[in-house]
Amino acid sequence: GRAWHLVARPQGWPKPEDFALREEPVTEPGEGQILVRNLYMSVDPYMRGRMNESKSYVPPFSLNRPMSGGAIGEVIASRSAGFAVGDHVLHDLGWREYAVVDATRAVKADAGAAPLSAYLGALGMPGMTAYAGLFEVASFKEGDAVFVSGAAGAVGSQVGQMARLKGASRVIGSAGSDEKVRRLIEEYGFNAAFNYKKGPVAEQLAEAAPEGIDVYFDNVGGEHLEAAIGALNVHGRVTLCGAIAQYNATEPTPGPRNLVQAIGKRLRLQGMIVSDHGHLRQQFVDEVGGWIRSGELKYDETVVNGIDNAVEAFLGLLRGDNTGKMIVNLGAE
Ligand code: NDP
Repeated sequence: GRAWHLVARPQGWPKPEDFALREEPVTEPGEGQILVRNLYMSVDPYMRGRMNESKSYVPPFSLNRPMSGGAIGEVIASRSAGFAVGDHVLHDLGWREYAVVDATRAVKADAGAAPLSAYLGALGMPGMTAYAGLFEVASFKEGDAVFVSGAAGAVGSQVGQMARLKGASRVIGSAGSDEKVRRLIEEYGFNAAFNYKKGPVAEQLAEAAPEGIDVYFDNVGGEHLEAAIGALNVHGRVTLCGAIAQYNATEPTPGPRNLVQAIGKRLRLQGMIVSDHGHLRQQFVDEVGGWIRSGELKYDETVVNGIDNAVEAFLGLLRGDNTGKMIVNLGAE
């Protein structure tokens, strides 16, 4: 089976030459393992950080080894009592066609309950990030006005809708195209939205939220964070979830120049890592699963076909080619 290797650590924006698609032997599973044929794999912004040398909350990818990440596949051989041939599983050995997975690191995915790809998006890690980041980290409460950046993406699209469903007084989103902005309002029910490429964020946010905001869910950092600090009301809260505007920066990026406002406004800015919030998992599955089944919460996917195009899908994600979750289909029908 083929697998994508990282062959050079990108400087700034990754280039196709930093990656190579190579043939890997498909081995039999050992005791307690399963052999999986991957059907879908995820590309996620955090993977950019793993391409750097430096240590973070996830270890860097090794050079000249298969990369890894979320994937959904079908069990084709099993030496674990918990899994049978034909089962669908979620695991973290993506970026390859076949994976030998320790059974302890695989979770069954029910193809009857939701489309399999949803377990990489709305019902998976990004959905859980939205849920934990809004309700736990930002301590969202009914009546809050919520602003989310990256609002047409996998996490952001869910944040805005969850806030609406839980009684936000106003939901505002920013995204990088007019088509995405239209979708925020018409499909996801945001009250206001703007294209951050069309003018200063602070000005557009002030117009979209004349009474200020109580929660800012930050997927972007940089100019967006500074604008949000300016717009936040007293006792406002910020979930620092991502800073994609600076993931490819080669120099340290400037901090928000207005951070001093956090004192007078008694703001709380809190970073998050989704894996800390496992205790919310069942609540997330029940509540969000219900909203999806009833049609109250929508999710989109941008699907790129074929393992050959997986790097292109990742680069496209960083450029904003996706609406909703960026998924690579490795051969699912
Ligand atoms: P998205 O689906 O939102 O895809 C990334 C999006 O980022 C693109 O579609 C693009 O949309 C936008 N973008 C790219 N460059 C810029 C820029 N310079 N300024 C503003 N927007 C930009 O990805 P995810 O939903 O998977 O992730 C969203 C954020 O959440 C990321 O920052 C990610 O790192 C973070 N994250 C954090 C987790 C945690 O545990 N802390 C867990 C999961 C995700 P556009 O067209 O609008 O520019």
